[in-house]
Amino acid sequence: MDTWLRSRMHELSDLHGVIHLAAWDREVYLPAKAAPARAWQLSTLHALHHERLVDPRLGDALARAGGSSDLTPDEQAMVRVLTRERERAVRMPARLVTALAAAQGEGIQAWREAREAKSFARFQPALAALLALRREQADAQGHDGERYDALLEGFEPGMRVQRLTPVLTALRDALIPMVGALASVQRPPPAFLDGRTYDTDRQWRFTMRLLQAVGFDLEAGRQDLSIHPFTNALHAHDVRLTTRLDAAHPLSALFGTLHEAGHGLYEQGFAPEHQRTPLAAVPSMGLHESQSRLWENLVGRGRPFWAHHFPALKEAFPQALADVDLDGFHAGINHVAPSLIRVEADEVTYNLHIVLRYELELALLRDELPVSELPSAWNERMRRYLGLTPPDDTQGVLQDIHWAWGEWGYFPTYALGNLYAASLHAAAVRALPELDAHLERGDTSPLRGWLRAQVHSQGFRLPAEERVRAITGEGLTDRDFLQYLRAKYGALYGLTLKG
Ligand code: ZN
Repeated sequence: MDTWLRSRMHELSDLHGVIHLAAWDREVYLPAKAAPARAWQLSTLHALHHERLVDPRLGDALARAGGSSDLTPDEQAMVRVLTRERERAVRMPARLVTALAAAQGEGIQAWREAREAKSFARFQPALAALLALRREQADAQGHDGERYDALLEGFEPGMRVQRLTPVLTALRDALIPMVGALASVQRPPPAFLDGRTYDTDRQWRFTMRLLQAVGFDLEAGRQDLSIHPFTNALHAHDVRLTTRLDAAHPLSALFGTLHEAGHGLYEQGFAPEHQRTPLAAVPSMGLHESQSRLWENLVGRGRPFWAHHFPALKEAFPQALADVDLDGFHAGINHVAPSLIRVEADEVTYNLHIVLRYELELALLRDELPVSELPSAWNERMRRYLGLTPPDDTQGVLQDIHWAWGEWGYFPTYALGNLYAASLHAAAVRALPELDAHLERGDTSPLRGWLRAQVHSQGFRLPAEERVRAITGEGLTDRDFLQYLRAKYGALYGLTLKG
């Protein structure tokens, strides 16, 4: 590959890293008065990145490289990935970019006011404006008659509604009776979370222990605090995680850290030869999420993991956990109960929250659902899927920030993450039959090494589903996830969950 093209790849990657640094800092350390200045700085950096990306000279260089026969397979993949990213950017009219930025500002503002007033009506006009712009974007970027595909492509390259809908519909139809069966057991929520206090300094120290336990490299990253935990990678050697501490709810720190560490391990695991190129990237948000869910849920809510770590947790919180043993803790962190709020949902009910949003998004993009009917459509599905009715819109249709940003197509990546996580975990167990015994000894290195070789170091060589298929022998499926739920929750609740 010629040196000019390679240096342009480096430049784009470096700009991306600095954008992530400024965005991370905004959420973690920004002084209150600095918000407008940071908004300008970020907008300037984004504009520079965009300008470099749509530069016609880059288009020519990519076209030349694409037609050349002396590139290595990795170089061919770099050209393919960057060409796709560039073409999406080129097809986005500058006028639309500006209009969207303005509409997003208004969307967030209206969403906050609507939440304040507990009324969707206040948000409706801003949402309708965002929807019109996203329809325009979908048409500009191109699709085969399904606008949603063009938006999904921004988060989940290669995935299509036609592929996704049957899988999510089957998942929904399997989960509704499972949730019903588990809810009928009527188990109270764990007493160790009821009104007890967990010192936040000790919580912080325990999250640092967890980072070490899963093998997150603290010399190539760090953890800080923020209101909503997130991960921003500047480079594989500079991965920023955040967590949050709440004295009454220690699980949000423990599982927030494990979740973000899963994202962080992915970013730290890119191959050295891919650094500062388009291959040092995740192929999709769903595959990224599969790594966070795998560590948070498949490993982190499992009994083998806590067989090793629970004694130390009990030592850190001797009063709050005085009457709790390993089995009680394991049952408590896997408590299943239908609830109104997605981010508080357990593993079993979580995907129903996602399917609900996906179905509504699709109906909105297809003009099958008027924006004004969104709250009633939401509440009707909430009743059907989870048997609950939101008392007001704040606990219903207004709970997530995604639509206030005009982000359609993002929600399904959470469900894809759960499904891919279960399929990858099943493949890991086949490759590492002693996995549980390793975890009981506190040794995560066999699993981490397997994920590093199979997923992390592969970067963006293949689209997400092809990567999963190369590892598991099968692409997207709900089978492994449902099998995992039936085995785990059947045992925890003393039920036979049929499929
Ligand atoms: Zn995540």
